[in-house]
Amino acid sequence: MTTVWDLVVVGGGPAGSAAALRAKQLDPDARVLLLDRDDFPRDKACGDGIAAHGRDELALLGLPDLIADYRPTQRLSVVSPGGVRVSATVARPNHVVPRLVFDARLVEAARARGVEVRRHRVRSLAAHDGQVLVDGEVRARAVVAADGAQSTVRRLLGVPPTPDRHTAIAVRGYADLPDADDAQLIAMQRAGWPAYAWAFPIGDGTANVGFGMLLPKLRATGLPGRRVLYGRLAELLPDLPARDLRAHHLPLSPGRPRPGVGRVMFAGDAASLINPLTGEGIYYALLSGRLAGEAAVTAPADPLAAYRRGLRRALGRHLRTTDVLARAAQSPGFIDAAIATAARRPEVFDLLVEVGLGAGTVPIPLAWSVVSRWLMGSLRGNP
Ligand SMILES: Cc1cc2nc3c(=O)[nH]c(=O)nc-3n(C[C@H](O)[C@H](O)[C@H](O)COP(=O)(O)OP(=O)(O)OC[C@H]3O[C@@H](n4cnc5c(N)ncnc54)[C@H](O)[C@@H]3O)c2cc1C
Repeated sequence: MTTVWDLVVVGGGPAGSAAALRAKQLDPDARVLLLDRDDFPRDKACGDGIAAHGRDELALLGLPDLIADYRPTQRLSVVSPGGVRVSATVARPNHVVPRLVFDARLVEAARARGVEVRRHRVRSLAAHDGQVLVDGEVRARAVVAADGAQSTVRRLLGVPPTPDRHTAIAVRGYADLPDADDAQLIAMQRAGWPAYAWAFPIGDGTANVGFGMLLPKLRATGLPGRRVLYGRLAELLPDLPARDLRAHHLPLSPGRPRPGVGRVMFAGDAASLINPLTGEGIYYALLSGRLAGEAAVTAPADPLAAYRRGLRRALGRHLRTTDVLARAAQSPGFIDAAIATAARRPEVFDLLVEVGLGAGTVPIPLAWSVVSRWLMGSLRGNP
């Protein structure tokens, strides 16, 4: 007899592993299959920055110590497009863990929990008798599409890709860095704004370094993408020559699609869940994957409806906030004003971290104080 899987997950990145882990955590008897086109460990272009919120998700998945052997990073320096710098200690530390390690650990944890993991590239999908038929052979009551920024499943279901205006592209590499250097740096750029370079020390004598910008701004240069991205990275971080360069798209949340179709739920990058202000996507991937896995086993009659409700509860207000902020942030002067405010008020710095790396929202009085500073700056000719 053909197995009917309770859940088939396409993609073994953080979103897919979280979905599989959560389904087995809530129902150890659930039949869960995880498909990825690659074997693990596999590399993934990323800044490797895991916010404290991501660690909260790991704890919810029953893996509180998954990255405990990596050094916590407490210091964060942000330079605004106009050159305003704020350096502060974050309320809760971030971690930097190469994706080669992080994703493999997650997949291994899923396997240890009883998830069947197979190397398989998904190419077709069909709704059939209240089930989903994957590649004409695998039957599932629910599917989580966690197959990343260029999601095949999303395309197969006729859901358009994220529009270019809401898509960024970034390159990352690794560089040598003295162990003692433990502050994360985000240096925003006025040229080609919105654009920024980063250096995230890992704690092993190396740092993840990178540079990213919006796709239309890259195209507007009229130059080959690699030349622009690699060139600007080298120019912005001249003391940190990078190796293992690798670039990838970032579908940003203001361009997010509906959260799924029929019995298929989109999670992580396949759902365009990347923060438009910071490029953070691992926390959203873990969170959305967890909620999708949860919906598959707790609401088998209509998992997508349950997933939609869960997402709205967890991220609805936050995503509306970042939609508005992403529009305002088209003006570099707005970001200058926000960072200048954060430089004077530690509680504002913490709040910006919550919005940029977590599920935070902006209280009206603070929004007003930033907007008035921005307007003053505009009047002085700093748009
Ligand atoms: C350069 C760069 C820097 C970034 N820096 C950060 C950062 O520092 N911190 C942060 O939080 N976020 C960062 N992000 C965003 C982050 O990388 C993503 O949001 C995150 O990887 C999303 O996880 P995911 O599980 O949705 O997708 P992915 O991690 O992309 O995983 C998708 C998986 O699906 C598999 N797959 C694809 N197609 C198929 C198919 N047809 N069949 C089977 N399997 C398939 C792939 O092999 C892959 O394993 C960065 C992104 C980029 C590009």
